Amino acid sequence: MQLATHSDGRPLEFDEASRELTLGGAVLTPSEVVALDKAKALNWTRYDVRETIRKAAKKGTTLGPVSEARGMSDVATGRTISETKYTCKACGRVWYWGKKDQTQNALNAVANAGDSMSPCSCCFPRPQRTVVDPTKCPNCGSRDSESELVVHEV
Ligand SMILES: [Zn+2]
Repeated sequence: MQLATHSDGRPLEFDEASRELTLGGAVLTPSEVVALDKAKALNWTRYDVRETIRKAAKKGTTLGPVSEARGMSDVATGRTISETKYTCKACGRVWYWGKKDQTQNALNAVANAGDSMSPCSCCFPRPQRTVVDPTKCPNCGSRDSESELVVHEV
C-alpha cells in the first residue's frame, strides 16, 4: 500500500504482512517517517495512516496492522471528517469533539462577551451560554483525558 510520495519521487509504502514502512525499499521507523513529514518531504495520499504513524512514533511503538486503524478511508475517493476522540482516564467515558462543536463553542464565547458588554445586562441578566471545555469529561468532570484524532468517512 503506498502512503505517500517523497519529494525525490520515492514511494513511502506500508507492507501489511511485515508491518514495515519502506521508502524506496529502505525500511524506516515511524519516528523517521514523522521526521521526514515534519521536513515537508512527503506528499501524502493516506492522511489517515499518517495519523496512525504519528501516534506510533509518539508512543515509540511499531505500526500495527493499518487496516485495523479506525477511520480507514481513502481521501482520494471519499469525503472525510475528522474529530478528536477523548477517553476519560478516571471513568472511561469516551466522547468526541468535532469541527461543529468548535464552531458552536466559539459562537457562544462571542455571545457571552457581547452580553457582558451590554449596558442593560444589570436590568436583564441573560443566561450565560455554555462554553464547553472539550478536555473535560461530561460524565465525571475530570480533565484527565486522553485524546486522539479520528477520521470518519461521510
Ligand atoms: Zn470521567
